[in-house]
Order: sequence, then C-alpha cells, then structure tokens
Amino acid sequence: MSHDPEFQADESSAVELPVLRLKHHEERRVAAGHLWIFSNEVDTKATPLTAFAPGALAAVRSDRDKFLGYAYVNPHSLIAARIVGRARGFAPGPSLIVHRLRVALALRERLYTEPYYRLVHGESDALPGLVVDRYGDVLVAQIATAGMEVQKEAIVAGLEKVVKPRVIVFKNDSGSRELENLPKYVEAALGELPETVSVREQGLSFTAPLAAGQKTGWFYDQAANRRQFLPLLKGAARVLDVFSYAGGWAVAAARDGAEVTCIDSSAGALEAAERNAAANGVSIRTIKDDAFTALEALHAAGEKFDAVIIDPPAFIKRRKDAPKGEAAYKRINQLAMQLLPRDGLLVSCSCSYHLESDALLDAIQRSGRHLSRFVQVLASGGQSPDHPVHPAIPETRYLKAFLCRVTHD
Ligand code: SAH
Repeated sequence: MSHDPEFQADESSAVELPVLRLKHHEERRVAAGHLWIFSNEVDTKATPLTAFAPGALAAVRSDRDKFLGYAYVNPHSLIAARIVGRARGFAPGPSLIVHRLRVALALRERLYTEPYYRLVHGESDALPGLVVDRYGDVLVAQIATAGMEVQKEAIVAGLEKVVKPRVIVFKNDSGSRELENLPKYVEAALGELPETVSVREQGLSFTAPLAAGQKTGWFYDQAANRRQFLPLLKGAARVLDVFSYAGGWAVAAARDGAEVTCIDSSAGALEAAERNAAANGVSIRTIKDDAFTALEALHAAGEKFDAVIIDPPAFIKRRKDAPKGEAAYKRINQLAMQLLPRDGLLVSCSCSYHLESDALLDAIQRSGRHLSRFVQVLASGGQSPDHPVHPAIPETRYLKAFLCRVTHD
C-alpha cells in the first residue's frame, strides 16, 4: 500500500471515529481475519448500536480496548458491522476506496487480457458489500449494505478515477438489500443506462439484458468452468443447456459443432441466447419452461443428449432451505442423467453456499445409483479467479461444478 501516494496522504489526517466496543472474547473471529461483527457480539451497554446511523463508520475495539479495525455499522442488520480496514493510520474514506479499487484492478489486469470480468468481489476485495462487474467501458455495481450505500459518491468518483469508464450503473435490486433496509432501484450514476451489456468470452461475443437481466447481466463466475469443461465436451453431437440464461455455455457448445437445446423459464433469457447464437453464426433450439417439467417432457418424448449442463439458480438461499434444496439438486441431476445415452457427459453446478461440494457430489452419485448408472468425475471447478475466496469467510466460496462421465452399470 505504500506505493499509492494518495493513500498515504490519509495517514496524517487519521480521524477519530466513534468506538464500537465488542464483548469479552468476541474479538476472536475478527482477529482471525473475518470481516463481520454480529449484533450479539457488540457490547451495546457500552456502545449502543442505536447510536449509529445506518452505514456510519466506527473504530472497533475489544473489551480490553485493543484497536481491531475500522468498520461501517448498520444497527438494523444481523451483521451489525463490517470491517473496511485494519491499518490504524488509514481511516476509511474516498482515498481508501481508490486504493482498494487499484489493488482490485491490478489483479484482474494480471488475470485477463480483455476488460470483461468481475472487478470487485465484495469482502474478498476488502470492499464488503460492493460488487462491480466490468463490461469494457461499462461498469455495473451492486451495493448490498447501508455502509456501502453511504459511500456511493466516493465509489463513483473512485471508479471514474481508476477505471475511467463511459457508464457506471447501480443495479441495486438484489433481495439482500432488504436485510439492510435499503430500497431497490436501478440507475446510471454516469452516462446513460444501457439496455444490454456486451461481453467477450471464449472468443465469442455476447449481449445480455441489464435492467431486465439476472444479477449484473452476466455470470462471470462460470467463465473459468466454461473454459475448463467446454473443450472436454467437444465431440458431443447433442448438447442440452439447462438454466441456460443468455447462452454462455450453449453458444460455445454450438460453435464447437454441437446441436444445442436451451431450457430456461425466462423468455427474455432465451431471446438473448438466440440473439447470441445468431451473432456468432450458429443457431440453437430453445424451450421456455420450468426446467423440471421440460426435462420430464424430453424424457417422455424419448430424446437423448450426449452432454447435459445443469447450472441452476441457488436452490438453497438460506440454511433452513437445505433439506428441500438438496432434494431439488438430486431431482434435477436425476432428470438430467435420464437424458444421457449409454455413455454421456454431465456438467453439474451449484451456486448455493449452503450446499457443500461433497453434498453436490453425493446428489450426483445418488442420482446415478437410482438410475443404475456408473459415474466418473473427470474435472471439477469453482468460481472464476476474479471472484476470489476470502480464506476466513467461507461464504465467499460458493460455486462448485463437476464434469462427469455417466455410463450404464
Ligand atoms: N447458465 C447460465 C446462468 C444460469 S442463471 C450462465 O452460464 O450464464 C439461472 C437461470 O435459471 C436464469 O436464467 C433463470 O431464468 C433460470 N431459471 C430459474 N428458475 C428456473 C426454473 N425453475 N426452470 C427453468 N429455468 C429457471
């Protein structure tokens, strides 16, 4: 951090922030590297949470008055505070954001030759509650916390300074905002709100809906799995892409020579997939239906596919949904396997943090047993490296993917 002159400038002007005092022994998780402080860990007698406005900054201290870091506070949230910096002399503010953005950009510039990636991945880039995806000179940001919402102007200024984009969009419409009492909205903070975003991936050009699309528009987290798995799918004559969205997997498989069918419940997603196929000189078949229903119908019609890709939305959003969610993963894998010929390939993914990698593998294995199939795992993957994992925060490691060969017993 010492080579960033602006960042150093803050040192002399370290501000005294109000203290957020933790209870006895409750500093351990933060001291071990985690960034979150839960409301029941705060000594609210000494420092009432209600004294903080949502998003206000604080200096976090242990019961023995040890300085633990700077954090932003939200008295209305179960996660009452998130650490934004641990260096005493460097109070949080616009120049810390600029510094963090520079460090984040340096990683992506090391990893990618083209400007299409997740630029900021929240806690994992030491900017808790902020996600920024880059589509060339268009940046799409998502703020999940009151603390980051307060910093919005500084985020825009920082992005302008570090990335010099043409457009900055806030796609602040995710469900998690409710947990922080934040309103939902989509707006352009710089330039005009585009209807679509454009991506280059695997030598292909894609556009995806923005305001009407999923998340920030594109699933960069799957890019590494597509790069790893798709070459191994070459030779599959018929490919089925279930939960296809805008065709990230499908169009690449079609380019590699497969006859591709996409299933998605969203008409907009399938229109985007068709547009993307056409833009890359291939065509695909689409089925607009609930995936479970569509897979059953394809089976009833006797259709077979040499490779089936299942990349569903998170079936387990909260821990209490785990039993139902696990059953859904098992069911969808079983329905997919039924469509494979005697020797086929299955790509099975889960973006549910609450489903461990071994549990997904177990769902695949059980589906295989149920259908008397023999399963071999050929490759496995996680989220792309522009979605780094914070080693102290297990929630930041969420995506798993397996490429399996499935044969008859
Ligand atoms: N495979 C995509 C990402 C999938 S996102 C990619 O690599 O880019 C999940 C998709 O599942 C969304 O497009 C959503 O519209 C679709 N979806 C959600 N629930 C569904 C259901 N029950 N049946 C079919 N599609 C569904």
